[in-house]
Amino acid sequence: MSVQYSIVAPIYNEVESLPELHRRVSAVMDTTGEAWELVLVDDGSSDGSTEKIRELADKDNRVRAVIFARNFGHQIAITAGWDYARGNAVIIIDADLQDPPEVILELVKKWKEGYEVVYAVRAEREGESWFKTLTASLFYRLIYRITDVKIPLDTGDFRLMDRKVVEVLKQMRERHRFPRGMSAWVGFKQIGVNYKRAARHAGVTKYPFNKMVRLALNAITSFSYLPLQVATFFGFASAGIAILGIPIVILLRVSGSPQLIGQATTLIAVLFLGGVQLISLGILGEYIGRLYDEAKGRPLYIVREAPKD
Ligand code: UDP
Ligand code: MG
Repeated sequence: MSVQYSIVAPIYNEVESLPELHRRVSAVMDTTGEAWELVLVDDGSSDGSTEKIRELADKDNRVRAVIFARNFGHQIAITAGWDYARGNAVIIIDADLQDPPEVILELVKKWKEGYEVVYAVRAEREGESWFKTLTASLFYRLIYRITDVKIPLDTGDFRLMDRKVVEVLKQMRERHRFPRGMSAWVGFKQIGVNYKRAARHAGVTKYPFNKMVRLALNAITSFSYLPLQVATFFGFASAGIAILGIPIVILLRVSGSPQLIGQATTLIAVLFLGGVQLISLGILGEYIGRLYDEAKGRPLYIVREAPKD
């Protein structure tokens, strides 16, 4: 029997949420009266989630377990979900129940109207610190401004994608990935649905500040050259200032003005330019490092256990 819906959940240490996730997804999906599967991707959990996932897969043959050999990160876990999903529509959902499974029905409704990507927009957030809400909001707006692809604001990975879209995404094997950007980049008929993002069911966020920064860097480097162009801008700006400065200095010197004594100005200029150069080098490094990773061509993830069928 062919599967209509694949629900994909990346899991990193979510043992307390798993039974509830399974229960709520089942309750919601059963109301559709169509065949569905739940693809649980274990991203190297160490809290017993792996055993729980195996147990769910044994009990319920609609649950498919993909178990990674180690932690590869949220974006890569989503990718594995795309690879193993068989449904005509694939829905990505967080395992911590911050994305209420009941919203899936609204996504499905839009899909049936003919939309090929239906993304869920976080109209409201519950139970998240002001710091997280603020940084997330700034992040979405920054990405929106500087990238060439119009990535919808306040939209996470919670979305439904048609099989056609998933097949395209499966061909995009870039290593440093930003799935929400990729799914905007492919085009197709897209639409957003508002929802209220709930608080975590249990446990703590798996996105500490350093991981958020890394995600932001991946998003920017994958979809924009702007940081590279900033170096060019600073180069022109400081060369321009220098060109203006030369005649001024000559004039002051010729007129015997004492204002040129003092090394502080020289020092500041040298430090400023040194700083700009090092930052530019660092930015170049970010891109070159990513190129190097792509060139190595390693597999995106390593699977210890995959579904049998
Ligand atoms: N996650 C993952 N691998 C990681 C980090 C997170 O698979 O390295 C999963 C996590 O289990 C959850 C989802 O990605 O299902 C979103 O993570 P989280 O809820 O911690 O992020 P937040 O909602 O706080 O942004
Ligand atoms: Mg969460």
